Amino acid sequence: MNAPVNPKKLIKGATGDWEIVIGMEIHAQVTSQAKLFSGASTAFGGDPNSHVSLVDAAMPGMLPVINEECVRQAIRTGLGLKAQINLKSTFDRKNYFYPDLPQGYQISQYKSPIVGEGEVTVDVPETAETITVRIERLHLEQDAGKSIHDLHPTMSFVDLNRSGVALMEIVSKPDLRSADEARAYVTKLRTILRYLGTCDGDMDKGNLRADVNVSVRRPGEEFGTRCEIKNVNSIRFIGQAIEYEARRQIAILEDGGVIEQETRLYDPGKGETRSMRSKEEAHDYRYFPDPDLLPLEFDQAYVDDLAQHLPELPDEKKARFMSDYGLSSYDAGVLVAERASADFFEEVAKGRDGKAAANWIINELFGRLNKEGKDITGSPVSAQQLGAIIELIGENVISGKIAKDLFEIVFTEGGDPREIVEKRGMKQVTDTGAIEKAIDEVIAANPDKVEQAKAKPTLLGWFVGQVMKQTGGKANPQAVNEILKSKLGIE
Ligand code: ADP
Ligand code: MG
Repeated sequence: MNAPVNPKKLIKGATGDWEIVIGMEIHAQVTSQAKLFSGASTAFGGDPNSHVSLVDAAMPGMLPVINEECVRQAIRTGLGLKAQINLKSTFDRKNYFYPDLPQGYQISQYKSPIVGEGEVTVDVPETAETITVRIERLHLEQDAGKSIHDLHPTMSFVDLNRSGVALMEIVSKPDLRSADEARAYVTKLRTILRYLGTCDGDMDKGNLRADVNVSVRRPGEEFGTRCEIKNVNSIRFIGQAIEYEARRQIAILEDGGVIEQETRLYDPGKGETRSMRSKEEAHDYRYFPDPDLLPLEFDQAYVDDLAQHLPELPDEKKARFMSDYGLSSYDAGVLVAERASADFFEEVAKGRDGKAAANWIINELFGRLNKEGKDITGSPVSAQQLGAIIELIGENVISGKIAKDLFEIVFTEGGDPREIVEKRGMKQVTDTGAIEKAIDEVIAANPDKVEQAKAKPTLLGWFVGQVMKQTGGKANPQAVNEILKSKLGIE
């Protein structure tokens, strides 16, 4: 465990280097029609208190009934995290005053969660490293409702629509060492959940949120005392909160102070964390097994069947893209980050040049979509259209440069790329007679440059440029190069 620390990840303090240690608890809303223990809808954005069953409202005598779909989704997620699936787990009551969870306790899993240890492989773009983040556990629990304090000057309101919705709490070991690693980890975890279809990962709606535990230490020393930053709801804010919190702790320690374990909140407006409450311990919650719910049990055959029907996950897909299409690790990683991009790529690449397909999607299409604020699912250029453009280049019908113009036309106006090339006369000139004629004209107009080029062959590029201009960019560049060389007497 004492691998040398990458100096890039250290923070320079006034008294020497510090290392950040981060562990995360991610709350991911389970994709399911109904809540964890009731049949009420989980749809987002209903009228306040319109998705509340008697169980969610905690009416006397109401009993929770486990929703099998949520269990299935939790197991599938565990499988996607290469984790231990526990065939028997139990539900506990976590007692707490929640104004927006009328039971007065949250049903959660404490000692015996449905999923145990697993791991996630994470590519970190900033350091070009690949790290393994160990998962400690995944457990199922209920979400709380929402208190609304800003609708009325003297009253607060409660909306229970979210109360009782199933969450997966995914707890990592303290394996992350920088804000970059933490952001990359959450991004990767979200990608896996989306591939599995077990959580939509929509952080704007609060469907994925992170409790970020941060401590600092001298490189190689024991872990320091951590602070937990609650409910951070964007990947950017996670990075900012860690940077701020680490520096805050370093300043205290360098000043001879000690870190108090506590729960803090990140204020994105101010860019700082502030204390919310001192850390509560597990025994404060008076956890005890929920007497209304039997232990949750299923058999290995059920798990095996779910394992067999998992979709191809991002790591496997990336490896396949590299081996089947010859893509670089970077390109393959970019394409598999969203399932929709990966699917789009495969449609374009099928029976065509995979590397060219990847280049076009990553460099042209993504850039252009970004400019329009669109994502791949709203792409005005279909996989068939992009495929046709790539074919036209491969067949030497158009040059790479013309292809970019063609791409822009298809992007803004639509249409069949082959027809557009035909109708607008965009075909590449491969007729050597026509190219020769253009070259002769350029040579005749620039006798001084011709002399110079003989001594300085790098001037060839200038001539190529002139000929391309002369032919409206349509001359086949390779032919231009060859004919020019022989006419100018350059090897
Ligand atoms: P608790 O049960 O009190 O919440 P856990 O041991 O479950 O504590 O840890 C909660 C989270 O805090 C985990 O994600 C874990 O990786 C992380 N964590 C534990 N110790 C540290 C530390 N010293 N620095 C940063 N994170 C830590
Ligand atoms: Mg915890």
